Amino acid sequence: MIRAIRYRDAQRFRQERLPGSTFFDLTQGSEEAAALWFYCPCGCGTPVRIPVGIRHKPAESPSWNWNGSLNDPTLSPSVNRIDCGWHGWLIDGYWQAC
Ligand SMILES: [Zn+2]
Repeated sequence: MIRAIRYRDAQRFRQERLPGSTFFDLTQGSEEAAALWFYCPCGCGTPVRIPVGIRHKPAESPSWNWNGSLNDPTLSPSVNRIDCGWHGWLIDGYWQAC
């Protein structure tokens, strides 16, 4: 398992590029909509942005249901990375490969 270390500072997040680290963009104009940035847990170094909804799955597809926790996030469904092949879950702040 890989800890999803949360960054509050977007610049540090982009500089350190830690596998599995997260940055939540909460500036979408609604309390119910947000985006999660993370560096792929596999270590390939790719930054990924996914739309998330707090305790609901937004209408857009693909999107994820997020439990609303910044430090120990859980997402549903699983995350499937097409370009590098990593597939797994984010549960209580840890990335778990399938
Ligand atoms: Zn990857």
